[in-house]
Amino acid sequence: MAIKVLNEKCVGCKLCVSSCAQGAITMTGKKAFIDPVKCNYCGACIDACKKFKAILIEIDRKAATQDLALYKGIWIYAEQRHGEIASVVYELLNEGRKLAGQLNEELCAVLIGSNVTAKANELIMHGADKVYVIDSNCLGQFNDESYAKAMVSLVEEYKPNIILTGATAIGRSFIPKVAVMLKTGLTADCTQLDIDDYTKLLLQTRPAFGGNLMATITCPSFRPQMATVRHKVFKKAVKDPNRKGLIITKNIMEDCLIARTRLVEFIKEEEATVNLSEADIIVSGGRGLGEAKNFALIRELAQLINGAVGASRAAVDAGWIPYSHQVGQTGKTVCPKLYIAVGISGSIQHMAGMQSSENIIAINKDPQAPIFEIATYGIVGDLFEVVPALIAKIKK
Ligand SMILES: Cc1cc2nc3c(=O)[nH]c(=O)nc-3n(C[C@H](O)[C@H](O)[C@H](O)COP(=O)(O)OP(=O)(O)OC[C@H]3O[C@@H](n4cnc5c(N)ncnc54)[C@H](O)[C@@H]3O)c2cc1C
Repeated sequence: MAIKVLNEKCVGCKLCVSSCAQGAITMTGKKAFIDPVKCNYCGACIDACKKFKAILIEIDRKAATQDLALYKGIWIYAEQRHGEIASVVYELLNEGRKLAGQLNEELCAVLIGSNVTAKANELIMHGADKVYVIDSNCLGQFNDESYAKAMVSLVEEYKPNIILTGATAIGRSFIPKVAVMLKTGLTADCTQLDIDDYTKLLLQTRPAFGGNLMATITCPSFRPQMATVRHKVFKKAVKDPNRKGLIITKNIMEDCLIARTRLVEFIKEEEATVNLSEADIIVSGGRGLGEAKNFALIRELAQLINGAVGASRAAVDAGWIPYSHQVGQTGKTVCPKLYIAVGISGSIQHMAGMQSSENIIAINKDPQAPIFEIATYGIVGDLFEVVPALIAKIKK
């Protein structure tokens, strides 16, 4: 895509300058100049320049030649690690089924890995009409480059309309590569999906500006329409053991999967006794803990109630606990039955990752802390008194 100022039509009125939220337009001489690096092609300047028609967005030649009508079906990337399907996949199958119904198109899953074919039936039982499988020895360990190549080969052959992937470490790592290779758009971290009744485009909604507003994004000119979706924003599909579907196994030449990187070693994180994203109970600690050793209190409470340990970014940045425990906008999104926030103020970035928890207990000595606004129960007090008291009571 390219954006252009038609100098012969530009009258130097500066309406476009004030319309641009990105600050991408300046005046050089008496003509507008658009910085292509800052421009996000939102089209606000084109609206502002309606009278003079001096700004033009040119769509890539690929869009003009791509026959969008050929692209059919909703695809869910069936992320797996060591043969285990990620639970977000079942959430996407549930939402994908709804979208497929709205578009009257098929719901398909894509399974890539080594010795994974046996898992295809599980995807069918959770709602997939078809499962495309690429099962190859050289795909045993996840590698974003090889997996992207495998995925692209399927997309080029079968031309899906929509591809949905979990916004997990794996999804975030390889699906942008797929989008770039296919020259299409990708909306990351969606929390809501829908189909526009009139255009039939995928409406991809995600938090923007630190969660202060929700932006709905469409991809009108390119296919497939691609989105990553946050874990736990949709309910899991219900398993139907009687469901039948088609499994399509594709071979790919090993040479085609060669990557420039290789996995040297896989080290399992020792700390993560309970997976944060899957946990029903999370106890999180923040800056209020004061120092690393005080996380022992959080761990003890979490262990007693079979919970996972979470943290605010302040605690992670201070080096008190590894990043994998961070909850929030730039950490994990969680939706447990019970979230206990200890010494966490409740910044919008933290709340973006935990506010949909079923029950929230906040422990904070400041009664004005924003976390109390979303807490189901609030305990105003010193965590060094409240948490040991809770631990003692639970032990009893
Ligand atoms: C782009 C961006 C992304 C971000 N992403 C994230 C993210 O993913 N996750 C995240 O958490 N943050 C994120 N942040 C940081 C966020 O803005 C806050 O700085 C952070 O969440 C604050 O962490 P905190 O609540 O632990 O610390 P603070 O805000 O300092 O709060 C500490 C709280 O502890 C209480 N306290 C202190 N002592 C005690 C005591 N003895 N007993 C009880 N209470 C006590 C205080 O009253 C206070 O409310 C992000 C910021 C930006 C700009």
